[in-house]
Amino acid sequence: MSTRTPRTTNAAAFAAAQTVIPGGVDSPVRAFGSVGGTPRFMERAQGPYLYDVEGREYVDLVCSWGPMLLGHGHPAVVEAVHAAVDRGLSFGTSTESETALAELIASKVPVERVRFVSTGTEATMTALRLARGVTGRNLIVKFAGCYHGHSDGLLAAAGSGVATAALPGSAGVTEAAASETLVVTYNSREELEKAFAERGSEIAAVITEAVPCNMGVVEPQDGFNAFLREITQRHGALLIWDEVLTGFRATSRGAWGLSGEPEGWTPDIWCFGKVIGGGMPVAALAGSAAIMDHLAPLGPVYQAGTLSGNPVAMAAGYATLSSADDAVYAAVQRASDAVREGLVAALDAEGVDHSIQRAGTLFSVAFGTSKGGVKDYADAQGQEVFRYAPFFQSMLESGVYLPPSVFEAWFVSAAHDDAAIGTVLEALPGAVRAAAAA
Ligand code: PMP
Repeated sequence: MSTRTPRTTNAAAFAAAQTVIPGGVDSPVRAFGSVGGTPRFMERAQGPYLYDVEGREYVDLVCSWGPMLLGHGHPAVVEAVHAAVDRGLSFGTSTESETALAELIASKVPVERVRFVSTGTEATMTALRLARGVTGRNLIVKFAGCYHGHSDGLLAAAGSGVATAALPGSAGVTEAAASETLVVTYNSREELEKAFAERGSEIAAVITEAVPCNMGVVEPQDGFNAFLREITQRHGALLIWDEVLTGFRATSRGAWGLSGEPEGWTPDIWCFGKVIGGGMPVAALAGSAAIMDHLAPLGPVYQAGTLSGNPVAMAAGYATLSSADDAVYAAVQRASDAVREGLVAALDAEGVDHSIQRAGTLFSVAFGTSKGGVKDYADAQGQEVFRYAPFFQSMLESGVYLPPSVFEAWFVSAAHDDAAIGTVLEALPGAVRAAAAA
């Protein structure tokens, strides 16, 4: 625990922020709306720890919502970023750093072309436009509870912050945009068959999270992703595979390493983000040359970005992804297993009904769901949400920073060592008692 005298408090920082920033936050998932209390304003981070403006230390189980696979301040990443900064922040031209990161991605998953953008929202938004441009069709199928960023057509029944706020979608989305998105129940082959039977010739693409992680983690039932591959192919639609969150995190080959790779199929358009930027604003869409070359300047599907492929961001992404060797994934898996097993033990000790959903190194807990687990958005929404706020607050008080919503996955890094995990394990019993008493 740092001993320096705090210059300010979280409450003062939040009060000041609220006078100039809506709700005091630049992304609603950072607000403490569903858990109560004052959002923490962080000042710095190192390894598995965050430090707030009051000098308090927290074990970080958010990891910037995914990017910090190696932990904070990894020397290779910091060094690469410093070197890139010295060369120049942005040139508005191509740089070799873009080719290098694209090649690295293409060496890990079967894609031939990668187009970099700055946010996951842009990646999925462009993927939809590309799918429409390639197929000449208008409709998109998405699953309730999946989150693919905040573009108009993808906010219907969206997970993450939209789920936390219990919103059906967003104001400001036109009926025209909403009517081009068909929302179906996750894990429901029947609903998907019905949608394709009724409107198959109009469907440009099915977009799915490779493993949904924005309504908590929801595991695809056996063969469900392969079924998505089959039904889209059968109807001449594309499969958009959103690995913004899971890519190069769930496993070394992302969530594709859990279903696509072992089963031997590939999706049409991949979306990446988070880990490929190592904490800088980087995302990408990727796929075969035959599909990706429909993008401008080669093809008629337009997309652009002033800061796309920014050299400092590319340097952070390259250093992160090239450092992510087998030992890193083994360390992340070990930390994830230790935290998850500690959580289950604490919940079982207090007899708190729950289920745990997993995707490689990612997992989440849902309260009151031991009977059927969580297989779709209705199950996620039907859990005992009220148990999370006291659980979260108790963990925070004990120096563990969890996602401030039950509808999010827990993230660990390769820097989560025995000391950091020990802090989490010590904090759990008290938090579970608070959840049980709710
Ligand atoms: N897709 C998925 C699966 C995500 O989890 C997210 C963000 N959490 C996005 C897309 C959007 O990414 P961004 O916040 O960078 O726009």
